Amino acid sequence: MSQAFHLLQLQKIDSQLDQIETRSQEISSLLSDHSQLEEAQRHLQQAEMTLREKQLALKRIEQDVQAKRIKLEQSEENLYSGRVKIPKELRDLENEVQALKRTLATLEDRQLEAMIELEQAETEYRQAEAQVQQAQAKEAERHASLRGELDSLSRSRERLLREREVILNQIEPQNQAIYQQLRLRKRGIAVATVIDETCSACGSTLTPAERQAARFPHQLVFCSSCGRILYAG
Ligand SMILES: [Zn+2]
Repeated sequence: MSQAFHLLQLQKIDSQLDQIETRSQEISSLLSDHSQLEEAQRHLQQAEMTLREKQLALKRIEQDVQAKRIKLEQSEENLYSGRVKIPKELRDLENEVQALKRTLATLEDRQLEAMIELEQAETEYRQAEAQVQQAQAKEAERHASLRGELDSLSRSRERLLREREVILNQIEPQNQAIYQQLRLRKRGIAVATVIDETCSACGSTLTPAERQAARFPHQLVFCSSCGRILYAG
């Protein structure tokens, strides 16, 4: 087998290793991404704050209503007790009772509104809670699948590295050095195949002399356009 053939095998393995490396890095960054869960948790916190506010607001109105009812009862009791006999005082008391009744009616309207708002806040809180649980389940599922993929990539990497060792033993040290240099300079692709008289890496048409030379097994031939090692098969 020619050096170019072994270099092509090495190239195939290194390209697979490159893909494994790229995907492994992608997976690592996907595994550290908790943005969907965090978003759901932020939403839940917001919903909880709103819920507490609405609970407090209702409690305050209930207290106000209660205080006004007591005041009204006292004033009515005074009014009908017969203890107040002076007409002006009676009129004042009568006016006070009417005013209290109007205030109470307004407060009771607000109490009803506050109850409705609290109910909405409770519904939103429960929905937000369910969304957090959903996001947690989704994340756990996604992460399990990504970890499975990572394990499988790691096994492939080990297998490829063993194959790589075997192939490397077939390649002369100076050719290994040329290959490594080209890998660095040519975005990872050091070896190109000849397909339909063209270089598979850069697409330029090869001269008959180049095509002929690429078949010669004992010396390396380079694409005159992109500089990569050519393998003609
Ligand atoms: Zn080329």
